[in-house]
Amino acid sequence: MVKYDGYAIVTGGARGMGAAICRQLAADGYDIVCNYISTSSKAKVEALAAEIREKYGHKVIAAQGDVSRFEDCQKVVQTAVDTLGEKIGVLVNNAGITVRAELADMSQSEILRVMNTNLMAGIYMCRLVLPYMYRQNSGSIVNITSVGGMTGFPRQTTYCAAKWGMNGLTKALAKEAGPRGIRVNAVAPGFIVTDMTLENKPAFDSYKAASPIGMLGEPEYIAEAVSYVVSVEFMTGQVISPNGGLVI
Ligand code: NAP
Repeated sequence: MVKYDGYAIVTGGARGMGAAICRQLAADGYDIVCNYISTSSKAKVEALAAEIREKYGHKVIAAQGDVSRFEDCQKVVQTAVDTLGEKIGVLVNNAGITVRAELADMSQSEILRVMNTNLMAGIYMCRLVLPYMYRQNSGSIVNITSVGGMTGFPRQTTYCAAKWGMNGLTKALAKEAGPRGIRVNAVAPGFIVTDMTLENKPAFDSYKAASPIGMLGEPEYIAEAVSYVVSVEFMTGQVISPNGGLVI
């Protein structure tokens, strides 16, 4: 098991899976830079920081920014470097949104919002963090994708396209950056109970029925998978999918 010399940046870390990932990586020994976008999430990051400081003694730095915008990604990485220094050990690209609508009904701005948040944000963050990781010749990047990036779901066409794109980024970047000491993996969750899916509560029973083990996912299952791919030295370029057997 490897523990990187440096801290972890988690995008969209204030709630849902992102918050569980921050807790898990702190338990694994990392200081955290926790990105958020909504002003209402600032208090959540502060509460998370207090909890993590008390439980694990690690720092959590709040970094506001809309990661679908390159300039905001620059701001997030600069905040990280200014507060915790240049040793970035881990990057988790977790921020994401979905719009449930048929493609034929989506406006160009909705399409761009989904693509920019779920795909371009990950590309931007990798672009900005890689030079630091290259300098230390080590680092681990984890992209949170989706079972939608392994199959496809109606009314989520752009979301699925973006998540397939992130899996492609994972594989290509693993080959490109591997010789310079960087591992890149994706964790592709199945149906997990968070704010994102609470919007779609009527679907819970059908997802449960589609799981051979009759389970819906909790954010902690995904955080454990992130911890695994971050720490297992032999793992790169892989998409691992804790999904309760939704996709077999
Ligand atoms: P969530 O509870 O809705 O949380 C989404 C997070 O993303 C929030 O922390 C939000 O920040 C952040 N975010 C959204 N747009 C952002 C932007 N432009 N810049 C910065 N942060 C932004 O969702 P979740 O279920 O935890 O999802 C986490 C990841 O898992 C996403 O990539 C999602 O696509 C993926 N996923 C989810 C499921 C599922 O069943 N839930 C399944 C497969 C994959 P604020 O708190 O500041 O608003």
